[in-house]
Amino acid sequence: MPTKKQLQIGGAAAESVDWRQKHLDALREMEAEEANWRAVEAVLRRLVRRLCAVAAGSDERLNAQLGKLADAIRGDADIVELKALCDSLTDAVMAIEKFATPGRPPEPQPRPAAAARRWDATCAAVARLLERLGPLAGNRPKELRAALTAAGDDESLAAVLRRTADLIAERAAEIGRERREAAALLAQVNARLEDMALFLAGTTEERRQSHDASKSMNIEVLERVAQLSDEVRAGNDLMVLRALVAERLETVASSLRNFREREEQRFIEQSARGERMRARIVELESEGRDLSRNLDLEKRRARTDPLTRVANRASLDERLVEEIARWRRFGAPVAVLVWDIDRFKAVNDTFGHRAGDGVLRAVADCLGSGRRAVDFLARYGGEEFVSLLVGTPPGEAARIANETRELIAALKLHCSGAPVKVTVSCGFTDLREGDTVESVFNRADAALYRAKEGGRNQCVAA
Ligand code: GH3
Ligand code: MG
Ligand code: MG
Repeated sequence: MPTKKQLQIGGAAAESVDWRQKHLDALREMEAEEANWRAVEAVLRRLVRRLCAVAAGSDERLNAQLGKLADAIRGDADIVELKALCDSLTDAVMAIEKFATPGRPPEPQPRPAAAARRWDATCAAVARLLERLGPLAGNRPKELRAALTAAGDDESLAAVLRRTADLIAERAAEIGRERREAAALLAQVNARLEDMALFLAGTTEERRQSHDASKSMNIEVLERVAQLSDEVRAGNDLMVLRALVAERLETVASSLRNFREREEQRFIEQSARGERMRARIVELESEGRDLSRNLDLEKRRARTDPLTRVANRASLDERLVEEIARWRRFGAPVAVLVWDIDRFKAVNDTFGHRAGDGVLRAVADCLGSGRRAVDFLARYGGEEFVSLLVGTPPGEAARIANETRELIAALKLHCSGAPVKVTVSCGFTDLREGDTVESVFNRADAALYRAKEGGRNQCVAA
């Protein structure tokens, strides 16, 4: 029967196997994230190829550089090579501009209609790319989006593209590093688990040896006793018999002493090994806890909008999928509200982006205030938010939406000392038969569009 100590060690080994599963899950998650970044990189490469095609022919002195860049992109050149090519292209553009107007900055030329369309499409594609980078790369995508909005010529657009490429390269390197660290940790955990498996195998072997030793000890003692009783039966001289008995008993006693010493030695070795293993298990548990804490933190970061601290779009998509499944099962009403700040661009244009950020935070706070535990608020992107009111029938949702809208209109906000009036429009709907994440959002978004058309600062049901 296993001793109490052996049972404890067996339990800890099972827990460690559980840790191994958690580490494997973490590795898988990082692999998924890496795949996402590869997709982002592919979009960026496609974008650069298109830009090269658009720019080719604009100045023959640039054609060679553009051709090289397009070839490098097609040939899957690495990020270092691409950066060098981008830099030399920038130098070539700058040299041309300097040569054209020595001592004077170039006059901005109005773009022809086709070029303007291409420019807008390029800016929109870069903006979408930055949007996708958003939740994973902190504040920098937002800064780049602002720089993109401000970009007025090819040079500054190229600079935004270069910085976007740098950001992607950095993030890819970071993911590679995180993945390597997780792999190293996993290797360490595996080594520990192997140690434990060896220890447990050793313990079984010890028990088998101990069992064999006591079995042969029994046989030896029984043989000696049988031998002695034969000799006693055969002998008739009392003195000889006494000497014989004394000698046989001494042999048995010495065998027992040896047996006990060996068993004690075995016990000491086994205890020391058990102690070493216990220390390793404690260490492993603490590493596991640290890793799990870091993973939780990372997970929370990846699900939160860094500016407003409310959930981000990825989180909203997940939650909507869950709510749709729950609604199909239990049928309790769920209201979906899409919010958009009215004329927000004017706030940015008048007071600057930083002040605009402050307004975004204040609106998010207000939308989130009074939320019940089952309700959910996410920043969908830009100045748009989505709320889910779980268990709220449409009439009640309309009342809550209008109260929240009035609360925001009554906010006393100031930018650079000047009072700023902020209003929001809202489109809302409830979950219906056959709804998907897209269909319910599109319905509410269409209602939001009607709220804007109807003069803003209002809530419209769909
Ligand atoms: P409407 O009433 O029709 O919604 O007008 P609007 O000006 O709010 O809408 P539009 O879509 O034209 O402008 C949205 C602006 O939101 C443009 C963009 O610069 C700004 N914006 C998006 N994200 C951020 C951000 O994170 N911070 C700041 N400060 N501005 C942002
Ligand atoms: Mg908007
Ligand atoms: Mg708006």
